[in-house]
Amino acid sequence: MTLLFDLPETPSIPVQGSQARYPVRRVFCVGRNYAAHALELGNAVDREAPIWFNKAPAALCLSGATIPYPPGTANCHYEMELVVTIGAPAFRIAPEAAMAVVHGYACGLDMTRRDLQNAAKAKGYPWDTGKDFENGAVIGPITPAAGFSLAGQRIALTQNGAVKQDGVLSDMIWSIPELIADLSRLYHLAPGDLIYTGTPAGVSAVAPGDVLEGTVDGLEPLRLEIGAAE
Ligand code: MN
Repeated sequence: MTLLFDLPETPSIPVQGSQARYPVRRVFCVGRNYAAHALELGNAVDREAPIWFNKAPAALCLSGATIPYPPGTANCHYEMELVVTIGAPAFRIAPEAAMAVVHGYACGLDMTRRDLQNAAKAKGYPWDTGKDFENGAVIGPITPAAGFSLAGQRIALTQNGAVKQDGVLSDMIWSIPELIADLSRLYHLAPGDLIYTGTPAGVSAVAPGDVLEGTVDGLEPLRLEIGAAE
């Protein structure tokens, strides 16, 4: 087969203890998964169903980068999140079986053009331009699942050294196995799929010159620097 032109290489993420990298197929994200964060944005907390949205793999940005301040926004926010990487196929999987398809975990940032998201929310429009944009899905190195225990881990973010987000993974409204089970009702999950699992309270705007450092106890930390707008 001949292609008219070449596309960029499949985006991929370093894996701790491995020479091989994790190639990315899809990026799923869940909204409002920590009660205190839902409330800080004026949203009700419920257990009706997880709120899913997607980012394109082209939005990925590896930890350590300096990115230009994103275009089209005057209110770009960080959202520090635990990212789950899927390592086996899953379709209509039960929560009790879901942890078996987890490949690993990483620190992530769900960067958000909050002004665009809020305008879309107010009109009942899709969130895409607020959420899915270049460098909008930041991710650190993956730690394989066997090397990490979810129980009670702290998730935190500093902006220029000041602590802005400080939560615990156990405060998630939907647990990791519940998220995987729910998503597998809607998609045939497969290796290469990422799940951004929501952010704790404390989200705020970034500015050129900012350094963001995100941590989840037991995982490789994440770092992002915001450069000048293009
Ligand atoms: Mn988020």
